[in-house]
Amino acid sequence: MEDLNFRKGDAKTEAFGSNRMLQPSPVEKIPDGPTTPEIAYQMVKDETFAQTQPRLNLATFVTTYMDDYATKLMNEAININYIDETEYPRIAVMNGKCINIVANLWNSPEKDTWKTGALAIGSSEACMLGGVAAWLRWRKKRQAQGKPFDKPNFVISTGFQVVWEKFAQLWQIEMRQVPLTLDKTTLDPEEALKMCDENTICVVPIQGVTWTGLNDDVEALDKALDAYNAKTGYDIPIHVDAASGGFILPFLYPDTKWDFRLKWVLSISVSGHKFGLVYPGLGWVVWKGKEYLPEEMAFSVNYLGANITQVGLNFSRPAAQILGQYYQFIRLGFQGYKEVQYNSLQIAKYIHSQIAKMTPFVNYSEDVVNPLFIWYMKPEYAKNAKWTLYDLQDKLAQHGWMVPAYTLPAKLQDYVVMRVVVRQGFSRDMADMLLGDIKNAIAELEKLEYPTSTRIAQEKNLPVEAKVFNHTGKPQAAKK
Ligand SMILES: *Cc1c(COP(=O)(O)O)cnc(C)c1O
Repeated sequence: MEDLNFRKGDAKTEAFGSNRMLQPSPVEKIPDGPTTPEIAYQMVKDETFAQTQPRLNLATFVTTYMDDYATKLMNEAININYIDETEYPRIAVMNGKCINIVANLWNSPEKDTWKTGALAIGSSEACMLGGVAAWLRWRKKRQAQGKPFDKPNFVISTGFQVVWEKFAQLWQIEMRQVPLTLDKTTLDPEEALKMCDENTICVVPIQGVTWTGLNDDVEALDKALDAYNAKTGYDIPIHVDAASGGFILPFLYPDTKWDFRLKWVLSISVSGHKFGLVYPGLGWVVWKGKEYLPEEMAFSVNYLGANITQVGLNFSRPAAQILGQYYQFIRLGFQGYKEVQYNSLQIAKYIHSQIAKMTPFVNYSEDVVNPLFIWYMKPEYAKNAKWTLYDLQDKLAQHGWMVPAYTLPAKLQDYVVMRVVVRQGFSRDMADMLLGDIKNAIAELEKLEYPTSTRIAQEKNLPVEAKVFNHTGKPQAAKK
């Protein structure tokens, strides 16, 4: 008798013996009927199977390793929606505790038990919230003075992360860019002030510039801004985009003043899923005090006698990250975070020192202040080279590494650089494997008889045909 279920897939069907596994995966339409969970799992899993192993991905800043207990906690909370606070009031309280801990790491002067801040999906949302607050504060003041408030602007270096472009475009706020150059590798306070006027809602220094790994000098900016504000009568504040640095500076450079210890720093944002050591997506934004968070952005709720302020662009959002963050705070403590960040920084410095010894390369900066850095090809080597860093990126990808090559922003756009971000989970042993693979790749590339297509394209100033990744690791059309 014919088995009606033959190859349709039931509980007895071996996944790879099923008819479903002979079919292409759905692209346009939902399949007509169901299949077994084993087969569905296999199909989805297989589609992502050939990707880079997350821990070999040195392009991303985002956490790719958490210990088993953290993973277990987060998996157990996977079905919790943060916004359902009446059902899960303890999670809202835990969120408030995380905000407090972050605020105090940044030397918040706020006296209230619950500090003013917000949970976000990542730094992007956190930056938006900081930016919108600055805009609304400025607007309110302009309104009160009877002055026009239709031409707001903010000032940032060309090393900005793409979120600031989104902020500018979505809210129609002009972005004024201070160029980075080989001499001025971070935001120049004087140049920034030249771009300020009565319509400037804030200046945005970055701690852990995505393109270079460097920190803008917030203390110098604050000092310059203080004199400028006194002279002009403006009160232009600072929002610090500390996506990476917010969880590095408090542990490794506690004496560096970049946070709420500075007069004009009114808000700071960070990615909990970068050096906060939590899986994506998690961000935090904190204000210096309640008075800096416009009422229009906040609503207060009362949990167990505690007054917690809520702010955000999203409504529903996962709660698991809050458990992950709170776990990491308890598990690691200040000392534990310091040790993890210290190791990441030491390993970054080690790779930096080894790259400096390789004939083709020169590091962009002598300093490695965050656990990431960039290098480029020495111009004198590049003159006779038959390859580019894009070719090296391809070679390394063959060994599973994702090490992005990309061009720097405006004024430095002729520089093709390569970057590594060292995160928890990247050991000294892995660093040596990576360095070995880089050396082998160079040896192979140096044997080339003819220039590669990316080298030809660069010489002719043509677009690079090869697949090129920008600094976020996303494919982009290369400029040169
Ligand atoms: C990563 C990053 C962002 C965006 O953060 P997400 O957490 O990815 O949303 C913003 N600014 C800087 C400086 C960054 O490095």
